[in-house]
Amino acid sequence: QPFNDFQLSEPILRALEGLGYKSPTEVQEKVMPAALKKTDVAVKSQTGSGKTAAFGIPICELVDWEENKPQALILTPTRELADQVKEDITNIGRFKRIKAAAVYGKQPFAYQQAELKQKCHVVVGTPGRVLDHIERGTIDLSRIAYLVLDEADEMLNMGFIEQVEAIINKLPKERTTMLFSATLPENVEKLQQKYMNNPEHIEI
Ligand code: AMP
Repeated sequence: QPFNDFQLSEPILRALEGLGYKSPTEVQEKVMPAALKKTDVAVKSQTGSGKTAAFGIPICELVDWEENKPQALILTPTRELADQVKEDITNIGRFKRIKAAAVYGKQPFAYQQAELKQKCHVVVGTPGRVLDHIERGTIDLSRIAYLVLDEADEMLNMGFIEQVEAIINKLPKERTTMLFSATLPENVEKLQQKYMNNPEHIEI
């Protein structure tokens, strides 16, 4: 099934062609129709399945380029993953000129603050540092319409539950939430019940 069937816009299709993505992976095929309709999704899938593009493509498609405040927030357990996701979003959103910023610990605050001050559609970050930015007032979450909890089980394993909940509680209630996790332990299920709106459950 080629990507054309998802009714993606020309700039996104062109970017996928440039990346050499000829057909969607299984997780993309299952997640994208729901995400494009702004339905919440709770996805059990492994890294390497193409999960980043499964949320990255719909987010790049749905983001309004004209809006100056961030519209999507992606939380990741590690800096490395945050950088990787930022790069993937930048590549997918290239011809729509989507801007993504990565924020995480052990990097100067001022640098990230400058990045956030510029036009930025998508923020990717680790929970601790994202919360720091919220508390310092250097990140504006008032227009967040899409939230991704990437590798949710890892985030909770690393002890980020309090920060994740504090962040979610500051987001607009009207939003689409997508959760990705390799495993679904009780604490991840709880997060789904508490913060997701009637999610479609997808298992790869
Ligand atoms: P991920 O699971 O998001 O870490 O993706 C694993 C790898 O698959 C990455 O190197 C992606 O660039 C690649 N990839 C994602 N989607 C596709 C696709 N539809 N066709 C080919 N490669 C893909």
